[in-house]
Amino acid sequence: MEDNTIGQEINAYCGKCKTDTIHLITSIENDKILKVMCKHCNAYHQYRAPKGTVIETKVKKVAPPPKKKTTRRRRTKAARLLENLDFDEAIEYKMDRNYETNMAIVHKIFGNGIVQSVIDRQKIEVLFQDGPRIMVQNYIP
Ligand SMILES: [Zn+2]
Repeated sequence: MEDNTIGQEINAYCGKCKTDTIHLITSIENDKILKVMCKHCNAYHQYRAPKGTVIETKVKKVAPPPKKKTTRRRRTKAARLLENLDFDEAIEYKMDRNYETNMAIVHKIFGNGIVQSVIDRQKIEVLFQDGPRIMVQNYIP
């Protein structure tokens, strides 16, 4: 028992496409399909029974390529800069020392740093991994 309704998708032969395609039922009379619209070529014509093969009218969705994961960690400009420096001869930071610009230092907490500028006799600006810090120099308690 067929139960066709207008607008329903059915498989039918399309004279224009010369093959079976998916059609939409556009007209029904006495429970028989009269006219159909080919979803492939959009032609309206009388319903003809399918002959066998079907053209897939629905375009298969191509899965989008997986998003490239950024393997690069987000690093600070300072971290990148410090990475390229040689800290083999870095000196340990101590408040009572005297520093000069571009000296590589190692701080117990902040790690490797480079003296960016000498602010005054007792203050220097040091660039650490997490950013610049004002440090003390020539400090005599
Ligand atoms: Zn067609």
